[in-house]
Amino acid sequence: MVYTANSSAVVCEDMQSEFPSVNQINHSVLLTGLLVALFCVVRFLYRKTRRNWTSVNIFIIGGGPIGLVAALLAVKSKRLRKLTVIESESRRDLVKREYQVCFDIENIAFLQTVGVEFDSIEGCRDKHGFYTRVGIFLDYCLTILENSEKKIRLLFETKFDKEIRKSLEKESCRTLVIVCDGKKGQSARFLGLDEFTEEVSCQTFGAMAGVERPHLREVPTQEIRAHNLNFDLSAYGPYSQDQNGTTGFSLKIFGNSKCRYMCLAIRKCDSPTLKALRTILDRSMMRNIFLKCFNTYKLKSEPGLSESFVLNHMKYSPRLFEVRYTQKCETVAYFDDCDMFVVVEGEAALSCNFHTGMDINQGIRGLHSLDQFITRVTWAESEQSISSALAYKMQHSTKLFSSLSRDGIQEFLFS
Ligand SMILES: Cc1cc2nc3c(=O)[nH]c(=O)nc-3n(C[C@H](O)[C@H](O)[C@H](O)COP(=O)(O)OP(=O)(O)OC[C@H]3O[C@@H](n4cnc5c(N)ncnc54)[C@H](O)[C@@H]3O)c2cc1C
Repeated sequence: MVYTANSSAVVCEDMQSEFPSVNQINHSVLLTGLLVALFCVVRFLYRKTRRNWTSVNIFIIGGGPIGLVAALLAVKSKRLRKLTVIESESRRDLVKREYQVCFDIENIAFLQTVGVEFDSIEGCRDKHGFYTRVGIFLDYCLTILENSEKKIRLLFETKFDKEIRKSLEKESCRTLVIVCDGKKGQSARFLGLDEFTEEVSCQTFGAMAGVERPHLREVPTQEIRAHNLNFDLSAYGPYSQDQNGTTGFSLKIFGNSKCRYMCLAIRKCDSPTLKALRTILDRSMMRNIFLKCFNTYKLKSEPGLSESFVLNHMKYSPRLFEVRYTQKCETVAYFDDCDMFVVVEGEAALSCNFHTGMDINQGIRGLHSLDQFITRVTWAESEQSISSALAYKMQHSTKLFSSLSRDGIQEFLFS
């Protein structure tokens, strides 16, 4: 067979009729691109509108400082549909709480973002933070919540129990339960979260003392710190001369002028004084140490303590104990059957066997991720996005716990 120029032209013509021209290809690519872009825009707008409209019911258990700060955060969130706070005590008892709390500089800035105006709260400031009575702070938060235009129910003298849990399960839309019922709270257990806890040593030994002077007023008072203290225990037998200058104790005096607390701490070391204070059970030894410390370092304006007053009114640790943090192993969960997220915050999640006068700050640090968590909880649709919301909160708690157990106490006590 002879192929001529003409025959090849015929072949070309045939091919043209079988395959689309370059113009046709360009046209269909353009059309497909337009359709894809249109689909993406519609999907984006649908998601955006849906996200703007979706909201969540928030239910807070516990009206202590952490519960009420969580409530302020919830009120600020655009995702809130309805907020309920339940507290087992009455409002009157809540605002009467006496002990002092100190907000550190980082948390002052954080609380200002949720509308707390420290200039409107009775208290005092120094370079470490802002000091006030816990009842004053709770009253301030409750007043903000009571005056809010959002849908809020504050239920006092209402204890969370299995019956309330059942009613929560019947809610028709997604619910986020924030458990803030304190160190001894049982609500997380009622909600089905694991009871196991994890304990971490802070490589520190400490002792606490507290004294109440009923004749004084509860005036918020700055804390006092003293470092590198060494004690002469020769009157009690043990040789007390520590050779190494780094083995001194740190002392903090905190609380208001009526309820005074002292914490004495030392890093784990081989100091002979530490060994004596760890092993010898002689109540008078510890009592004298706290008495002398208080009278030496107290504010000049406040009255000193007498031996007889201390004998009858001071509560104190009889010897040094190991400082430990305890954290609940499971602090966040999702229950598919009732579309309910649960998160545990504050001392209900993380607590220490040693007060530093800055305890409230650890709980508030846990809340730094709450706003973002509320958004993720509201938007989560697929199994993957639900897991990612849970992982986000879990990672934040784990990070907080490990940094606290690594250097948290040291930062509060020794710096
Ligand atoms: C005597 C004392 C002195 C302190 N001094 C200081 C200090 O000087 N500085 C400082 O920073 N911190 C101090 N703290 C610690 C500080 O108070 C805590 O860190 C802080 O209160 C923890 O807050 P929270 O909201 O997690 O728990 P909590 O304050 O314990 O609040 C939990 C709330 O939940 C409620 N509740 C419990 N169970 C239920 C239930 N089933 N249903 C409904 N409600 C429930 C309780 O009534 C309570 O109001 C002190 C604590 C005490 C006890």
